[in-house]
Amino acid sequence: MGLVSQAFTETDLALLQGYVAIGHNRYSTTGSSRPVNAQPIVAKSDALTIAIAHNGNIVNAKPLRDELQQRGYHFHTTSDSEVIANMILASPGQTWQEKIEYAMPRLQGAYSLAILTRDKLVAVRDPLGVRPLCLGAIDSGWCVASESCALDHIGARFIREIEPGEILIIDGNGVQSFRKETDKRALCIFEYIYFARPDSVIAGKLLYPAREAMGRILSEEYPVDADLVMGVPDSATAAGIGYSHASGIPYCEGLLKNRYVGRTFIEPEQRIRELGVQLKFNPLSRVIDGKRLVVVDDSIVRGTTTPRVVNLLRKAGAKEVHLRICAPPIRYPCFFGVDMATRWELIAARKTIPEIREHLGADSLGYLSLDGLIRAVGLPREIFCLACFTGEYPIPVQMEMDKLALEALPGEDFVVADH
Ligand code: SF4
Repeated sequence: MGLVSQAFTETDLALLQGYVAIGHNRYSTTGSSRPVNAQPIVAKSDALTIAIAHNGNIVNAKPLRDELQQRGYHFHTTSDSEVIANMILASPGQTWQEKIEYAMPRLQGAYSLAILTRDKLVAVRDPLGVRPLCLGAIDSGWCVASESCALDHIGARFIREIEPGEILIIDGNGVQSFRKETDKRALCIFEYIYFARPDSVIAGKLLYPAREAMGRILSEEYPVDADLVMGVPDSATAAGIGYSHASGIPYCEGLLKNRYVGRTFIEPEQRIRELGVQLKFNPLSRVIDGKRLVVVDDSIVRGTTTPRVVNLLRKAGAKEVHLRICAPPIRYPCFFGVDMATRWELIAARKTIPEIREHLGADSLGYLSLDGLIRAVGLPREIFCLACFTGEYPIPVQMEMDKLALEALPGEDFVVADH
């Protein structure tokens, strides 16, 4: 548990031997954030052993787990990733390709996988392609990673993205690809807004210009008379620059980020999140004192971080704070691997936009429209999952329906799209 540099020493890594390896760096998917759920997860059957690293979330983990337990499979974690691993082991077939092809239609939801067998690296992306996954080449070897920026850091060459529904089997014979065509996609649009790094490429689009365009379109949708524009670092920096270019209002770095503090909204507890915000930013009062600021941020989830940012800026002397957000209001929870919040915790599920503005303490508030967001990314609307904005989930989220009903607001029903 913890940051990579806390969890592993150089000595730990130097002891590793072999020619194929996987690693995982993420908070846990379904199942609590406990050391036992840390990945990669190792799963065994009588004859086979695999390790699996999973990005995403499957929505039918519970019934699959029950079924596997009845068939004698044992679980050591509460994670949906172990369900995926055991589903693959339990599937009929003589080869990994056959086993995975059999398991895939039964796994509902989001899964980008790196699987380690005794002698192979296997990469799998779910048929909806919710989370990214890409292939790179380094020296005489191969590597896969969620984001292409990871390849750049290790000096690997980006080869291509792994397609939705594709299985890549990599061994001494090179890379073999197996894929059944899928007609429907549900790429998470939030990767473009926040999760992925701006130097990554997803669906052929470099994220940095997409984020700049979000800022540009925000300035068209919500112009304001102001002295300076700033982006909340780092995820909204590009959008802040885009807003500045389009509006002609000068850009400034009004907040400095403490690089030793992690992202705030994935911290498990409210208390830690609140402390994290204080530790995270330092306002540059000499720059912002007496100024009317446009502050561009990536998104508002619970609405706990933003009022603190507004407050910091006001204390540092900002005369006005006009918030511009690179995403529409988030009104529905995510069931595909983003542990953002329950429905009740989402501020836009409970409050109107004027109420949110008041809660945040901003002088004005503008959310990027859904059309504006899609225009900024520059890809067809049909390829995206937009469920946290629209409530139209790309697959039925049956497992969660009881929870959803409990969380539904008075007079509201959830829409579960069946397309
Ligand atoms: S619900 Fe939102 S965060 Fe979750 S996969 Fe869909 S677009 Fe991404």
